[in-house]
Amino acid sequence: TRRNAGEPEFHQAVHEVLESLGRVVAKHPQYLDLALIERICEPERQIIFRIPWVDDKGRVQINRGFRVQFNSALGPYKGGMRFHPSVNVGIIKFLGFEQTFKNALTGMPIGGGKGGSDFDPKGKSDGEIMRFCQSLMTELHRHLGEQTDVPAGDIGVGGREIGYMFGQYKRLNNRYEAGVFTGKALAYGGSRARTEATGYGNTYFVQAMLATKKTAFEGKRVVVSGSGNVAIYTIEKVQSFGGKVISCSDSSGHVVDEAGIDLGLLKEIKDVRRERISEYARRRGAGVHFIPADKGSVWDVPCQVAMPSATQNELSGKDARALVKNGVMAVGEGANMPCTPEAVKVFQEAGVLFAPGKAANAGGVATSALEMQQNASRDSWTFEQTEARLATIMRNIHDTCHQTAEEYGAPGDYVLGANIAGFVRVAEAMRMLGVI
Ligand code: NDP
Repeated sequence: TRRNAGEPEFHQAVHEVLESLGRVVAKHPQYLDLALIERICEPERQIIFRIPWVDDKGRVQINRGFRVQFNSALGPYKGGMRFHPSVNVGIIKFLGFEQTFKNALTGMPIGGGKGGSDFDPKGKSDGEIMRFCQSLMTELHRHLGEQTDVPAGDIGVGGREIGYMFGQYKRLNNRYEAGVFTGKALAYGGSRARTEATGYGNTYFVQAMLATKKTAFEGKRVVVSGSGNVAIYTIEKVQSFGGKVISCSDSSGHVVDEAGIDLGLLKEIKDVRRERISEYARRRGAGVHFIPADKGSVWDVPCQVAMPSATQNELSGKDARALVKNGVMAVGEGANMPCTPEAVKVFQEAGVLFAPGKAANAGGVATSALEMQQNASRDSWTFEQTEARLATIMRNIHDTCHQTAEEYGAPGDYVLGANIAGFVRVAEAMRMLGVI
């Protein structure tokens, strides 16, 4: 802990994985001799750098950039970039650590990494966003490469930001290296279904969990937190499966729409106009309420399925108890570590089906790996083809977690199943590669 002082999110993520590993080392004691657990917890490389840029008023601004190259035993480092004022090295390390196991669970040849900046994109002009992305890439480009490290989007980083970063990378390297970024627009080497993949993937995962109890989304009340990339495409897929999404949110509060969220309106407000969620209630009119964040929680809205898709630690033990009291039967983490350890315990003790983020939200990175495949073969697949691959991958991840939990004597414990299956895949590769 002294080596990673002041990094509570990283401690939380490591602790949660280590708790599952007792049963693994009992079966494979050689992992202890090889210090595999200690090695897996230490990033291979961490890059921290200055990002100077000039705002629209001509003032010089400084932000801090990060890229944590966590583990490359299975392939090039792979993981998104996050732009949010809360970003610090501990948050990027927690995300990179989670990413390593998540990527292993997909079965694709990708290692784990994560990056970002404490830059706040809210209220910035398009020109400011572009200059910031270019300055960031002026430093980061030397650490990337399609065989080395392949970033993508995350909170605050979508198609626009990826375009600016990729453009600057291409310019600095004088090389069209499409596979160095994923989440690109279709116009320059992106993959169909990548934008939708994380939200769709989580929905497929929860569908598979519900099927183990002989039930489905059809007719169920669903709450999805957030209203960004993951949330929007979760809502889209849940609705297509016949579920009714009653509520969604942003950091300012949540809306309750008993008729079911109007996805067209939500997309216009969030994707096109970049406005706050209260605007949804205002435009939708009578019967739709906006509740500010200091007046209530999205988790107080009664539902049968909850899909937290905003940020880490957004769902507390108290929220979990409210959800259980209101009859929740399944929870799928679209975000990374959105449920606190206390919340996870409440769900598991109440017998709620619980899908941890490193398994349930792996559809995004899996489809990124499909984008890399298309780039490598200079091919472009149809939406249907790509989504069919995503659906198969998510079913496989579900079954792997389910079977691993059973094999290790904890049937139904998807947290344990995901942690063990992900760890063993990375650990086996590291063992074969020697002490590096
Ligand atoms: P976006 O930036 O598109 O959306 C984030 C959403 O969460 C926004 O509605 C935002 O509200 C809300 N939010 C962010 N921070 C907070 C906060 N501190 N408190 C309350 N609400 C907050 O990001 P994504 O949808 O891409 O990412 C959401 C989550 O999913 C993250 O945990 C990310 O790591 C994870 N994830 C994303 C993947 C992807 O493919 N994009 C893949 C796998 C995981 P506001 O606008 O008010 O800030």
